[in-house]
Amino acid sequence: MSGKYEAVIGLEVHAQMSTDTKIFCGCSTKFGSGPNTQTCQVCIGMPGVLPVLNKKAFEFSIKTGLATNCKISPYSRFARKNYFYPDLPKGYQISQYELPICEHGHVEIVVDGEVKRIGITRIHMEEDAGKNIHEGGGPYSFVDLNRTGVPLMEIVSEPDIRSPKEAAEYMKKLRTILRYLGVCDGNMEQGSLRCDANVSVRPIGQKEFGIRAELKNINSFRFVEKAIEYEIKRQIKILEEGGKVMQETRLWDSAAGVTHSMRSKEEAHDYRYFPEPDLVPMVVSGQWVDEIKSSLPELPDAKRERFVSDYGLPEYDADFLTSEKAVATWFEEAFKLGGQPKAVSNWMMGDLTRLLNEENKGIEECTLKPIQLVEMLKLIDNGTISGKTAKTVFEEMYKTGKDADAVVKEKGLVQISDSGAIEKAVDEIISKNSKEVERFKAGDEKLLGFFVGQIMKATKGKANPQMVNELLKKKLG
Ligand code: ADP
Ligand code: MG
Ligand code: ZN
Repeated sequence: MSGKYEAVIGLEVHAQMSTDTKIFCGCSTKFGSGPNTQTCQVCIGMPGVLPVLNKKAFEFSIKTGLATNCKISPYSRFARKNYFYPDLPKGYQISQYELPICEHGHVEIVVDGEVKRIGITRIHMEEDAGKNIHEGGGPYSFVDLNRTGVPLMEIVSEPDIRSPKEAAEYMKKLRTILRYLGVCDGNMEQGSLRCDANVSVRPIGQKEFGIRAELKNINSFRFVEKAIEYEIKRQIKILEEGGKVMQETRLWDSAAGVTHSMRSKEEAHDYRYFPEPDLVPMVVSGQWVDEIKSSLPELPDAKRERFVSDYGLPEYDADFLTSEKAVATWFEEAFKLGGQPKAVSNWMMGDLTRLLNEENKGIEECTLKPIQLVEMLKLIDNGTISGKTAKTVFEEMYKTGKDADAVVKEKGLVQISDSGAIEKAVDEIISKNSKEVERFKAGDEKLLGFFVGQIMKATKGKANPQMVNELLKKKLG
């Protein structure tokens, strides 16, 4: 960003709630079924039908509000947002407007080692619209109403975000919290989590915000950063050339890496919001809120702090291990079974993550059990295998499901800690490389690595490296 300007960003995040049924009817919310197979009179908007609020969706919104430090409104209600579009057969979306269920919250993010608080203006419930399909129909478009009426939360941030990276971190934090709570699966590819980004720039030192553009159609963390980055540059260029930024809605084109104007403020909808007459206002008792509060799981921030203080892990490790509840659970199980925290963490952050990524799997689908890692760590500790061999053992355990013991026996990977056998190998290498021995003795100590390498090669990586080093130093010194 050019040094004279500062970006101001606020995000509107839509999270699809993972309830089994829709928000105002009993239709299934399952993803990927045939078009219009999950619909009824209520969600396709037949005249005269009446919506009934899904209590689970209501509870999920309160959970999310509590987990993001919001005030839960004791009295809230739904509103009609009126507009016409083929994917909205009723001609209005049931949403919340002047009285949302949650307000005045915040979450904390860490960017470049600094903790920053991002305010949450409000969280409200609403129903999703259907989906227009333009492919494959010749001159026609189709409408799939399976998604119509799927419960959403809209989480609106304060304009507290100052960089593309902060925006991505905020989005990640929300996703982590939603997944911990089990209220949204956070699947951005399937559209369960989407975001609109409001972006403006202002000269550094100026108090008032600049004019903002709203970016639509952002569906990955990478695109949050890219779209905002592009938009900041675009707006700064306009200001530097003496122009004015227009208030408008812009569409992010991920293939081209640019944003396009979609509609200006003049063309913006007037939604004619009014209170939804078919649904009674909601009164939430303090007792219910307390019950929900006491049912909340340990949240990511608290877990991260505990991982640092209880297990003595670096912040970086704690952050990694608590970004997904299932990862944290895997770690804690390994710890309970006797795994040394930092060793377990290293294997999880390194080889385990690599192997899972290769298959595009999450830890929930991991067939390797914490006990298998712990048993392997014991074999390293008691000298049966070297740290280097362990990498082979680990991968084999992961791929075959066999235990460390069995892999080591089958593949003959037991470390050679027999000093006689190692001495023999050392002597052989020394006699074969007399030139290098002379150079070493003349002061070229870097050659120690060369000798260690030759011996490890001769023993197929099985010689105890510490013993090799000691013996070499003794014989060459
Ligand atoms: P709208 O109803 O048009 O979407 P809101 O006032 O609800 O507008 O704001 C939507 C989002 O825009 C919020 O996340 C808010 O923080 C953000 N926002 C408001 N003003 C600005 C601005 N000047 N620059 C960047 N973001 C802004
Ligand atoms: Mg908006
Ligand atoms: Zn329905």
